[in-house]
Amino acid sequence: MKKAEMVIQTSLRKGGTDPIFKIAGQANIQIKKCGPEAVINSTIGALMDDNGELVTFKAVYDTLKALPNALIANYAGLAGQPDYLEKVVEACFRDCKPEGHIRAVATPGGTGAVRHAFCNYTELGDTILITDWHWAAYETIADDNHRKIATFPLYNEAGTFNLAGYKKSVLELLEKQKRVLTVLNTPAHNPTGYTISDDEWKEIKSFITETAQAQPNSKIILLIDLAYIDFAGEGDDARQFMKMITGMPHNVLPLYAFSCSKSYTMYGLRNGAIICVAPTEEIATEFANSCTYSNRGNWSNGTRGAMETITKIYSNEELFNQAMAEQSFYKAILRKRAAAFVEEADKIGLKMVTYRDGFFISLPCDHPKEISDLLMEKNTFVVPLGKGLRFAPCAVSEEKCRRAPQLILQAMKEV
Ligand code: PLP
Repeated sequence: MKKAEMVIQTSLRKGGTDPIFKIAGQANIQIKKCGPEAVINSTIGALMDDNGELVTFKAVYDTLKALPNALIANYAGLAGQPDYLEKVVEACFRDCKPEGHIRAVATPGGTGAVRHAFCNYTELGDTILITDWHWAAYETIADDNHRKIATFPLYNEAGTFNLAGYKKSVLELLEKQKRVLTVLNTPAHNPTGYTISDDEWKEIKSFITETAQAQPNSKIILLIDLAYIDFAGEGDDARQFMKMITGMPHNVLPLYAFSCSKSYTMYGLRNGAIICVAPTEEIATEFANSCTYSNRGNWSNGTRGAMETITKIYSNEELFNQAMAEQSFYKAILRKRAAAFVEEADKIGLKMVTYRDGFFISLPCDHPKEISDLLMEKNTFVVPLGKGLRFAPCAVSEEKCRRAPQLILQAMKEV
């Protein structure tokens, strides 16, 4: 690493555009040149309609735009507006609220929640456990805050949750640090679309409970990143596990990183929350104090208008039903697109890791960068990751989802 000029050595960073934004930029150039029909742009991590326009929920934006200016412009409370904090707990758990001492602190998106969990529940220099296929920002957030990352393989040989690998890594870290924070991004994991099943959760809970009992001086933090939850399962299916994730020994703390970005099409409004399901009131108060202080020390407070919008939606049945109808409508479209991709991939033998739900499908392969480059020449834009390619049915029409597998398989053969 080059020697820093003025920044401290650990803040010396490589410049340049994020690789995903770079490919997305190239896709846009091609769209301008050849027209949208000729280009498959699967680089975007947001829900787009079939014409490539960002989907925005009417219930959300009509509500936001009808707010008095002062409610948009004003500061929010440091922890978040009290009525928002109540409603965001509802938005997170719906009818699957677990027993326990539940508290929420508003954060700018799920990103802020992940940041607070990393910084308040691990020591400087600690290692945080994530899956091998993962959202790249976990590494950035950890590194920016002087923490490290360790990974375990998400899948076992059957293509389901690799409980043995998870157990091994948790135990190894506990031996080194006496405190471990694991991130499980479920349901509808980014970038694979995997969802941990209720049976798998049962096994995770047993293991965590036994480990915490056997090591009473250790601390185990389960951070559940829910960024895609409202695009998984039917009704409250995807939330059933939540009722189970409680009642563990007092040295275990479940935390939820809740995001309004995808669920309410609020990406740039930066709204979310970190939520604890603590075993005692003391642990819950400690959580709220610590995360509120972190808000003050990082971004002061969140986006008032976004909080007011969620509060209004969750206080008015008609508005709530309208928002839920919009979520369901787009969830169904996403399902159809993903099903088209999976059906076609299966037909031609294009290998995928297990996909259950959500915005992304991953294709394991060697040389992902070279394959992605070759695909670009064919006006197909797919994100290369460390372990393969990420295709985004959230951003591509059903017809293109059906066309893409053949193009990808062909490119894999050519590289
Ligand atoms: N977690 C995962 C896995 C994500 O993919 C994202 C967004 O892309 C987030 C959390 C948080 O997003 P935001 O900060 O916009 O809520």
